[in-house]
Formats: sequence, C-alpha cells, structure tokens
Amino acid sequence: MAGNGGAPAFWRETGQLIGAIGRAMGVTLRNLFRKPVTVHYPDVQRQYPDRFRGILALAYDKETGEEACIGCRLCEYVCPPQVIKVEMLKGQKRNYAKTFTLELYACEFCELCVQVCPTDAIIMMKSFDLATADRRELLLDKDRLHALGLTFEPSWATGNRLRDMQAPPRPARAEARGEAKGEAKEPAE
Ligand code: SF4
Ligand code: SF4
Repeated sequence: MAGNGGAPAFWRETGQLIGAIGRAMGVTLRNLFRKPVTVHYPDVQRQYPDRFRGILALAYDKETGEEACIGCRLCEYVCPPQVIKVEMLKGQKRNYAKTFTLELYACEFCELCVQVCPTDAIIMMKSFDLATADRRELLLDKDRLHALGLTFEPSWATGNRLRDMQAPPRPARAEARGEAKGEAKEPAE
C-alpha cells in the first residue's frame, strides 16, 4: 500500500541531515581555534626561498656604483620570447646600455637572461609584487628596472654564481686540458 514506511524514512533522513550538519559544524569549530596558514598579504609577507625567481631588475656595480649593464645584448639574444631590447652605448673605458626595455607581461621567468649576463647586471628579485590592471605598466625601461633592483631583495642567483655551478670541478678541468694537449698518461706495461 502506497505511503507505508514514509514516516521511518523521514526520520532516518532527518537524522542523517542533523548528523551531517553536526559534523560540518565540528570541522568549523576545530578550525576556528587553529593557527591560520594564510597571511594578511601585503601587510604581512612570507619569507621567500633564496632561489625565488620573481620580478626582473637591473643592478648597479657594487664597487663602482655605476650601472652594471655593459649593453652586450646577450640577454636579448638568449631570451626565448624576445621580450628584451638593448641598445649599446660605447664608452672609452666600458660600454653601457643606452636603452634597455623588458616586456615583463610576456616574460616566461626562465632565468636564461640572468644565466648569460657577464656582469650580473640583470637579476631576479624575491618578489612578485607588481600586479596591475594596465599592461603598459609592465613594459619596463632602464630606469624602472634599476628602481626595482633597489626596491626588492635580490634572489641568490646571479649569472656568475649560476655559471660556476655548471662548470666542471677543477681537477676535471685540468685533466681535460692535459688530454687536449696530448699529455695523456702512457698505459702501464
Ligand atoms: S626570464 Fe626568460 S623570458 Fe624572461 S626576460 Fe629573461 S630570458 Fe626572457
Ligand atoms: S643585462 Fe647583462 S647580458 Fe643583458 S645587455 Fe646588460 S650586460 Fe649584457
């Protein structure tokens, strides 16, 4: 007969619903007193790892205080999406970048430009804090890139450090030179 068992099913479902609400409230209550895992960014900022690869910037030479960039254009040649443009200015003692632009909105953050730079002029900063609704603000010129280099903390990685890591150890280098000159050891008899 239709309608038989309606009341028990109603109470069973009501019981399940109350149980589910109770479990959900229990989770909420437990998390209410838990230490938060989020921070109030940007008022509170996390400590980034030393190798954090963030915004690109240009650095000044630590000894002379001059712009470190010598306008060699290696970063321009190596950049996969070709977002760097450099014009060299020839000087008597050294060269400079006459203009330097970087389209950060199209950058892949691959770090290749940092790896090839002979003077550690182009570096990455331990920050990504450059969000904007206007793409034009991410077309960075030389002055802006230098200002960014003074604003944020630099990443550990510089071109010279990264190249040192990739070079073979000293004994291996000496051995390679010896072999190249035909100084290989005579086989033992
Ligand atoms: S990080 Fe890569 S994509 Fe970005 S500017 Fe450097 S070389 Fe180009
Ligand atoms: S940033 Fe480095 S690689 Fe790029 S032009 Fe300047 S010196 Fe050359």
